[in-house]
Amino acid sequence: MIRIGGVQISPPRQPPFELKIINRLLTRLPTQHQRYDEILDRKNRIEAGYSGELNVDRVMHEIIFPPNTKILKNIKLQVNPHYLFEIDTLILSPSRIILLEVKNYYGTVYFDEELGKTIRVSPTGKKDYFDCAIHQLIRTEAALSRWFDKRNITIPIESILVMANQQTIISEIPKTVPVKYRKQLPRYISGLPKIPTILSCEEITRVAQKIEDSSQENYRLACERFNFQPSELKSGVLCSDCNGLMNRKRGQKWRCLNCGKYATQELYKALEDWFLLIKPTISNAECRAFLNLNSKYAASIILRHSKLSRKGKPPKTYYFYADKEQLYRK
Ligand SMILES: [Zn+2]
Repeated sequence: MIRIGGVQISPPRQPPFELKIINRLLTRLPTQHQRYDEILDRKNRIEAGYSGELNVDRVMHEIIFPPNTKILKNIKLQVNPHYLFEIDTLILSPSRIILLEVKNYYGTVYFDEELGKTIRVSPTGKKDYFDCAIHQLIRTEAALSRWFDKRNITIPIESILVMANQQTIISEIPKTVPVKYRKQLPRYISGLPKIPTILSCEEITRVAQKIEDSSQENYRLACERFNFQPSELKSGVLCSDCNGLMNRKRGQKWRCLNCGKYATQELYKALEDWFLLIKPTISNAECRAFLNLNSKYAASIILRHSKLSRKGKPPKTYYFYADKEQLYRK
């Protein structure tokens, strides 16, 4: 936590983990694949969302919060094993929780609550349909309220749908939840009615810690998540400069067949791709097939030099990340 005035803000927001997975998926998906553009579009949406969240984070510094307030970002909590919900920004103050759902829309936005869709119309007239942002915020608020109920904490929750882009045109301001442009936030939040203190400084620290400890990455392999067969993806060690196929030279060196670059780290990036995209474990045979190796011995050396854990006796030995966080944090 970083302390600014009386407010503690968690470290700068990291890019979403899904973005990392999608970027790796795009390097392995042939550009002529029929779903390439769909995945690229998804990546663009995630990037726009992330950049909107960063813009809203900057505005947080303009707001005078009550002392001991904590601002938590990218929270993923579970109400039950089948229901995980995500919060862009959670402001934990002594008297209330403020929940921010950040949207970065370009063009005009229509909130159609009847249809259950939020429609974004770009300046060129292109329509994009999203799940209803208002329903999403209401569901998140309900889930968070349940999460707190389970811990015997009763605290008012104030939810705000934030337009990160000041240029977004809102066709009609919804009545169900407050919708604010990011630059309206300081005035809106400062103007919220004064209500009694519920959480002491120690309780805020304890609750914030509990939230951060419970927050977990919603990790799913890309092939499973986006419904791809591993055979649809490119195999081999890929060059980080040109995405060309690399060939193993004598020793540890690999050379790009396209641009001629020599490298060693790409090998481990390829192994990481396996664990992000395809399967949570790898055998020697799978490693040979995925890295385009002929030698069982070479695959064995590579697997032993990686930071993977090993289980099972040959020929059934397999390798895996004992601490999956290692994979997320990189
Ligand atoms: Zn290259």
